[in-house]
Amino acid sequence: MTADPHGVDGGTGGDRTKGGSTDADGTDAVGREEGATEEGGTEEGGTEEGGAKEAATRGRGRLPPDEAFAVLGQETRLDILRILGDADGELEFSALFDRVEYDTSANFSYHLEQLVGHFVERTEDGYGLRQAGRRVLEAVLSGAVTDAPVVEPTEIEWPCQHCGASTVEVEYVEEQVGIYCTNCPGQYGGARAAEDDALPADRARIGYVHLPPAGTRDRTAKEVLAAANTWTVMQAQSLHRGVCPRCAAAVVHDLDACGSHDASEGICDACDRRFAVASRSTCTNCGFELGGSAIGRLHTEPDLLGFLFEHDVDPFASDSASTLEVADFDETVLATDPPKVRFTFGIGDDRLELLADDDLDVIEATRRTTTDADD
Ligand SMILES: [Zn+2]
Ligand SMILES: [Zn+2]
Ligand SMILES: [Zn+2]
Repeated sequence: MTADPHGVDGGTGGDRTKGGSTDADGTDAVGREEGATEEGGTEEGGTEEGGAKEAATRGRGRLPPDEAFAVLGQETRLDILRILGDADGELEFSALFDRVEYDTSANFSYHLEQLVGHFVERTEDGYGLRQAGRRVLEAVLSGAVTDAPVVEPTEIEWPCQHCGASTVEVEYVEEQVGIYCTNCPGQYGGARAAEDDALPADRARIGYVHLPPAGTRDRTAKEVLAAANTWTVMQAQSLHRGVCPRCAAAVVHDLDACGSHDASEGICDACDRRFAVASRSTCTNCGFELGGSAIGRLHTEPDLLGFLFEHDVDPFASDSASTLEVADFDETVLATDPPKVRFTFGIGDDRLELLADDDLDVIEATRRTTTDADD
């Protein structure tokens, strides 16, 4: 990431650098599972793996998006969801009507009826939120629907994981936390940085990660970055295990290993990156994406986690030092098609070597101490 404790860089579909379009870039290539959820509830047994798997659910059907938005596109109805979300259990009609403070009960009743079914349920005890209503409320409260906060570029005390400079710059635009170094070439080369109109020539991007607008409330720029780190690491844990942290659908991974990597000047001419291995995980359903160096995904490996914890490094702590700051990290690309890579992490006298396949699954983990090494 980012100033990443964790080598992840990405966020939702739509790089800011690409103006938010993701469709053309490989979503098709990775392929949606046949009979995914498009048709809502019609999916019977996926076709993957010879149809051995069967869909676990039979849906009640989806509410088409246009209808869903039409139902929700009215202030009183969102108020109803909000009041029901705050309520302790179900609310009878009169209690709900009182709290929403709407003029006439006839009109109020009409709005309420529009929500009943998909978003609100009516029981003997009154009205309550259904899961879909709760999710809408979460989206509203996370700020995803209503807020568009901006944090102007701010210099904060936070070490650059690449060059060790004591400060980095942080900004927040379009739900992305951007992290920049003014002292080194960052994590990506000029070609990529040049695509970013907002990027002045004197700073290089270390990474950018998604954070919902509510994540910026009552936080300093530094706290925003710390929150983004935790948010991203937790999402990466889910993504790398094949579960989308947004919608829980299946995720596909794509790995690129540079066969002639030379980053001695900071950025490799061949791949235009600092790191030889780049990974991108994409949801097959909602388009959520997270990419970056291999380090982010390796943080799900028990061997690496054990190694870090033993050395008092907690990659999940928002304010912890980046793994790159505390460990000597090295990548050796043994093959590119399909990729096979040896990753090395060194702390003090101890070294951990991870041999990983094209799925970044660790085939072999080896621990050494300097005394074993042939130095
Ligand atoms: Zn730097
Ligand atoms: Zn390279
Ligand atoms: Zn998803």
